[in-house]
Amino acid sequence: MSSAEDRVRPNVGARLRNGGGTVEGLVHKDCPYLSLNNSLEGELHAFLTDDDQLHTYDDLTKVNPVTPTTVLKCLQARYSVKVFYTHAGCTLVALNPFQPIPDLYSLEVMKEYHCAPQPQEFKPHIFIVAEEAYRNVQGQLEPVNQSLVVSGESGAGKTWTSRCLMKYYATVAASSSVEKSQDTVERIEKRVLDSNPIMEAFGNACTLRNNNSSRFGKYIQLQLDRCQLLVGASVQTYLLEKTRVACQPANERNFHIFYQMMKGATDEQRKEWKMPHGQRFVWLPKAEKHVEEDCFQETIEAMVHLGINKERQRQIFRILAGLLQLGNVSFSSSTDDSQPCDIKEQSKDFLQRAAELLRVSAEELQMCLRVRTLKAGKQSVLKPCCQAECSMRRDCLAKVIYAHLFEWLVTFINNSICSDQSTWSNFIGVLDVYGFECFQINNLEQLCINYANEKLQQHFVAHYLRAQQEEYVSEGLQWSFVKYQDNQSCLDLIEGSPVSVFSLLNEASRLNRASDAKTFRVRLEKELCDNVNISWDKFNKVPHFTVAHYAGKVDYQIQGIVEKNKDPVPPELISLLQQSDDSLLHQIFTDKETDSLTTKGLSKVTVVSKFKNSLESLMKILHATTPHYTRCIKPNPDCKPLTFEKEEVIMQLEACGIVETIHISAAGFPIRIPFRGFTQRYGLIAKYSRFKSVSHCVDSEADSSDFLQQEVEKLLEVVSQHQAADASCGFDSEKRNSWVHCGRTKVFLTQSMLGLLEDQRKKI
Ligand code: ATP
Ligand code: MG
Repeated sequence: MSSAEDRVRPNVGARLRNGGGTVEGLVHKDCPYLSLNNSLEGELHAFLTDDDQLHTYDDLTKVNPVTPTTVLKCLQARYSVKVFYTHAGCTLVALNPFQPIPDLYSLEVMKEYHCAPQPQEFKPHIFIVAEEAYRNVQGQLEPVNQSLVVSGESGAGKTWTSRCLMKYYATVAASSSVEKSQDTVERIEKRVLDSNPIMEAFGNACTLRNNNSSRFGKYIQLQLDRCQLLVGASVQTYLLEKTRVACQPANERNFHIFYQMMKGATDEQRKEWKMPHGQRFVWLPKAEKHVEEDCFQETIEAMVHLGINKERQRQIFRILAGLLQLGNVSFSSSTDDSQPCDIKEQSKDFLQRAAELLRVSAEELQMCLRVRTLKAGKQSVLKPCCQAECSMRRDCLAKVIYAHLFEWLVTFINNSICSDQSTWSNFIGVLDVYGFECFQINNLEQLCINYANEKLQQHFVAHYLRAQQEEYVSEGLQWSFVKYQDNQSCLDLIEGSPVSVFSLLNEASRLNRASDAKTFRVRLEKELCDNVNISWDKFNKVPHFTVAHYAGKVDYQIQGIVEKNKDPVPPELISLLQQSDDSLLHQIFTDKETDSLTTKGLSKVTVVSKFKNSLESLMKILHATTPHYTRCIKPNPDCKPLTFEKEEVIMQLEACGIVETIHISAAGFPIRIPFRGFTQRYGLIAKYSRFKSVSHCVDSEADSSDFLQQEVEKLLEVVSQHQAADASCGFDSEKRNSWVHCGRTKVFLTQSMLGLLEDQRKKI
């Protein structure tokens, strides 16, 4: 993964050009809100929304007009008075305070939201989302599974939010009647919560952007029985950043668990792990930031609660210690190509210790790292490796061990917390996935992450449009006049068939030639040259391709991408681990899947195929559930408490799709003015109109909504006549419905219509 310094701001507005919103019947189809100049927007803003009151707007869709500027102002006003949650239609926006907020998540607050007849009437809070999902499970006719999708960039608060949600359910849905079944194994709610510290210890790390950054995606299903009690859970993880174990970006750290071990080890453990005090490890860089490392005991306790016994724990930590020792092994350069590189003298001890801790023969470990076995028919040929190859094989060994150990842990956790299918009837899923990423240099990881975000965005837009449609229907409006083209074309480019970036990448990976990158590039340019979502800057020295994502354009580097997709593991390394005397290592490398994936030394299933499959299963689940979206926002890049930086926030609103939804709503009728406000502001137009017949309507003080509706209709009629008489304004009275609509309680307007009304008002 690239570092935060490389971060490029997604081009705000890029989405407008490539998102492909197709809107019928609007004057400025690309960007309706741009039809207002700044001063007009300011004046209207004052009329529609009182700045002093901005912080009181609990729902961004009520801000008038809904533009990125007004939405931003509203969020900032709320943040300044320490209000961190705001609805945005069917989405909850959560701003990270970067400091503990007393009592915001207390037991009492949970109870308040849980027991309220209408929690929606309370202040926006993550507990409203939680409670809504919980009540929805019961369903009106039949129970409906729910999904809580939490997104946002690194450090925005996804994991924090997911933990809050889990705690909420572990509290309000606690099956308290279930007693401890064994002495060591805790109650199910506790076990479900205890999965967090373990997964975070092994899967999180301190990065430049977040001291506790999750280096994997996670979907956890909380299983509820017929009485709505929490009886179990299951976890699915996505794309662990395993390279971190052997290679940490500058000023970032390895996974937390290693530091916890170093800080929390007893003398006895240090002896067992062959780690005297003061021993330095190459793979354990220190970060400048202060990071909490005193969690070893907490991790161990969580392991105990989940049923990982002392012996298993010993094995796990011994393996991890083995990896650290392995990281200190380095190779000298060889002058003779026929001879393998030597292990540097000062690192021979480390190799010995690594072998002992991993319970493999030191001789064989050395051999595997330094010599490649080439199979030619039935014969094997041994080929010495150069220095770079030796280091690559060492790193590969560490990565494959760590990734498999992580997978084993997840399986163990699942076995411990997943309840029998017959005991639960429904679930609430919580998805904590990495947000859209755009660095100076982007690789296969970013392509996968951004592809996942495209998928989620498509799902979100479909859901959002449905919600919009419902509001229009309840106000008696027709929906059919707005067509919105979603991001399908970008998804087709990435994953479609017969030809797409993924299919060409897999093709290049299968060919397994030395010139992989070049072949891939040539094929991309040939096969996808007509696709508007992909482009190339041929003059750029670094070969890359650029994908126009909904959140902005991203350049993906071609060099190394095919190799990453293959993710090869030399077969010698796997057989070495299969022969380990450590029963855990032996077990995790001899299951069927590992065998079939690596017998030929090359994983037959490429990274993108695996990722696409797991994402497809996830999308299937999401489609079969009722979704609830929470968009976490990081208000400043330095994680400073209570600091709101507009640039940062608008960029994220753009990347997480809020701006996109603002545009979708702009494609419909972003301005909604209650009847009374409308007649008060624009009644004068009718009063002084040369179309006299309706001039009486505006002075009425009647409050009945039917009466008001009639008045508004009459007023709109006059306005239409005025506008139709003025050819220059572009208004087409035949298509009045695509400019303005009179609902049951309010008037729905496009920005263009609002502009025309304002112009007319000024002429009076
Ligand atoms: P990543 O993608 O890197 O995993 P993330 O979105 O999961 O990032 P978190 O780890 O959840 O980010 O949050 C980062 C930090 O922000 C937390 O460690 C915590 O200090 C702070 N934080 C997040 N949400 C809140 C909150 N609601 N109240 C107080 N502090 C918070
Ligand atoms: Mg996280």
